[in-house]
Amino acid sequence: MLKPTPVLLHKTAPQVAQEIRACIGCNECLLACPALAEPITIDVLNRETLRGEISQPVARFARDCYQCSACVAPCPVGLHRDAMMMWLKVRLLRQEGEE
Ligand code: SF4
Ligand code: SF4
Repeated sequence: MLKPTPVLLHKTAPQVAQEIRACIGCNECLLACPALAEPITIDVLNRETLRGEISQPVARFARDCYQCSACVAPCPVGLHRDAMMMWLKVRLLRQEGEE
């Protein structure tokens, strides 16, 4: 019997960038998130997921994300915010390592 294909959470930077370009900014993922404790706009989150310095609110959100995937089903265009957040966590660790 064939095993089900596992969902791959770890995506490459180009794959994450492609998903972020496809984001229509509807905010449904953040509305569904149980870990978001302060207001963050999708524009800022998307930008800081990919490049530049990570601001304190986005860094706190990245640390608080516990990969529950509640953000995935509500996305009307089938994007994986959980994978984007995993990439952001990696960026945050790298940024902290450079400080
Ligand atoms: S995976 Fe992270 S961002 Fe998505 S709903 Fe869960 S805690 Fe929130
Ligand atoms: S639900 Fe999907 S399209 Fe809407 S803001 Fe989140 S990732 Fe972007």
